Amino acid sequence: PSSTEDNIPRRIQANVVNKIAAGEIIVAPVHALKELIENAVDAGATSLEVLVKDGGLKLLQITDNGHGIDKEDLPILCERFTTSKLKKFEDLSSICTYGFRGEALASISHIAHLTVTTKTKNSSCAWRAHYDGGKLSPAKPGQSPDPKPTAGRGGTQISVEDLFYNVPTRRKAFRSPSDEYNKIIDMIGRYSIHCAGVAFSCKKHGDSGTSISVQSQASTLDRIRQIHGGNVANELIQFSAADDRWGFKASGWATNANYHIKKTTLLLFINNRSVESSNIKKAVEQTYSAFLPKSGHPFVYLSLEIDPQRVDVNIHPTKREVNFLNEDEIIQCVCETIREKLAAVDTSRTFMTQT
Ligand code: ADP
Ligand code: MG
Repeated sequence: PSSTEDNIPRRIQANVVNKIAAGEIIVAPVHALKELIENAVDAGATSLEVLVKDGGLKLLQITDNGHGIDKEDLPILCERFTTSKLKKFEDLSSICTYGFRGEALASISHIAHLTVTTKTKNSSCAWRAHYDGGKLSPAKPGQSPDPKPTAGRGGTQISVEDLFYNVPTRRKAFRSPSDEYNKIIDMIGRYSIHCAGVAFSCKKHGDSGTSISVQSQASTLDRIRQIHGGNVANELIQFSAADDRWGFKASGWATNANYHIKKTTLLLFINNRSVESSNIKKAVEQTYSAFLPKSGHPFVYLSLEIDPQRVDVNIHPTKREVNFLNEDEIIQCVCETIREKLAAVDTSRTFMTQT
């Protein structure tokens, strides 16, 4: 038999493995962007500027004013499992930062052209480095791959160009750059609302104005108003709940019974990470069903802080979902708080119309 027809298992080439792994973490441009936002926030940035070309497939660039990266760390920045945030496995249960596995930049460097420009406050200049397949690479063939000094402000700029350039099947799956751009705007909108004290802007290449612009001093309510408009912002009630038994604190803003829309908007953060939860969404919709017309749905921004020891953030490579203990009890407690608030607003409205 020819060597391609036998059944001998062969080791897959390392670069193929890395490409497959990267494609599991970064499925669409928005997933790369989410990692870059989280890194910038982890670095203490108070300003994040995003520039997007072709829905992020041609260019995703994020500029922050965080603490920057030491020049000495640049050579290993994009190696897998390189992180400044996790020293030993036990740290996973007490981790407070968004990142913890050192996989994001490594993954991106396997499926895109990655450029990092960074300046710490102790450095007299900024340094620029290009990466390919986890390693430093030259800007042009024949040049040295070493980081080059350049002018730059304090902080970090990460440019991701030609995402999936070497994964043609994935590249072809993106039919509409504007769909990808909308996902990006949605994700930046979420973090703009959640990250108090941080300014955000997002611009589409070629547009004169910005799609998102939020000042650092804007309140949470201002942020919701800027991203979702007055119709939502004028009908919000603030809520909070906590219970030591289940090790959680919850806070957020939810629309009252005056407001409803066709589909639920749930902006959910668990320990400061934007995640999805169909259980929480279902429970919230159930809570509102007593207050809204049959086809009406709410807007809810919910930030849950759960004792890190009770959370398993590591169930999925994309970190899009998390598991936590006493999920049912926590959901019930949050929904009961929202229900009481909705009922209180409902009664005060009845009183007002009576007088
Ligand atoms: P993780 O966030 O899980 O540590 P990443 O691959 O996302 O892994 O990032 C690797 C490392 O690069 C981080 O631990 C951090 O030290 C550094 N880094 C990445 N982005 C930034 C940034 N915007 N500012 C400062 N340091 C950064
Ligand atoms: Mg990270």
